[in-house]
Amino acid sequence: GTATRDRLRIAIQKSGRLAEPARSLLAACGLSWRESRDKLFCYGESLPVDLLLVRDDDIPGLIADGVCDLGVVGRNELDEQAGERARNGLPPAYRELHGLGFGQCRLMLAVPEEWEWQGPQQLQGLRIATSYPAILAGWLQRQGIDAHVVELSGSVEIAPRLGTADLICDLVSSGATLAANHLKPVENLLDSEAVLAGPAGGFDDARAGLAQMLLRRVDGVLQLKDRKLLMFSAARESLPALERLLQDAGPLVIVPTQGGPAQGGSGQNGALSLQTMCEGAVSWQQLEELERAGARGLMVLTVERSLA
Ligand code: ATP
Ligand code: MG
Repeated sequence: GTATRDRLRIAIQKSGRLAEPARSLLAACGLSWRESRDKLFCYGESLPVDLLLVRDDDIPGLIADGVCDLGVVGRNELDEQAGERARNGLPPAYRELHGLGFGQCRLMLAVPEEWEWQGPQQLQGLRIATSYPAILAGWLQRQGIDAHVVELSGSVEIAPRLGTADLICDLVSSGATLAANHLKPVENLLDSEAVLAGPAGGFDDARAGLAQMLLRRVDGVLQLKDRKLLMFSAARESLPALERLLQDAGPLVIVPTQGGPAQGGSGQNGALSLQTMCEGAVSWQQLEELERAGARGLMVLTVERSLA
């Protein structure tokens, strides 16, 4: 993209698996929008960052053409279109800036249940149905296997039953679709998730600062995901037992208190004010165990925002 802009334009999926999580992530980063009536373009209100709502397949191309500056798209889609560009002799036009921790799935080879899987060499000369021909062709080439790639745009999983392919290469998350079609996954070609993608070259105008700020906020939001701050007080003698119970949490920090004993912080019966960051939820049972080990005034706090 050659055009200079002072607003950042982010493409996200209009509807589908990535649509809602993409919007909530961006909202958690402090963005808000005024929705237009056609709901394809959302004008940024809190920051000069606008949204374009599109089909996920279109996102890599929109970035490549400079129509959009950033995009939230599955790594599978990004890698596939990058592979296709490479096969057509085009230079890389975009890159992955940040994994986003949702939309997880794997691109896998799946074979009829009754097959005994012995490894990739078994694929020689077979027909593989997929919507990801570039990723599959690259993988086959690296394995040194000559197989026929049958490109299908949808309903890949019924190809073996229809006789149009011997096996498939498709996205798998729970595996329920494969099982329903009497297929079993045998090889993983790609671990995918939603990613924030941007142009290979970066920006040379106001968008550079906006993109940088957004990336930092995305980082902050993802790091806080499910994190809880646990606060309590305890006597110094109880520390070893409490530390054992909190092995999986971050370091147990003694919070300095201004007034000393009179303020109650590091004094009332020699109690210390303590805090630690926990990576996941803190259950009632854990709280009760901590209390039995001498913790008092236990509090679990949600961390809303932080700058590392
Ligand atoms: P669009 O109309 O935007 O083209 P789509 O049907 O291509 O939508 P979705 O099915 O919503 O796309 O999937 C979007 C992305 O979600 C996929 O590209 C992939 O990265 C991710 N995903 C996660 N789990 C799965 C799954 N089980 N099957 C397919 N995609 C999955
Ligand atoms: Mg699509």
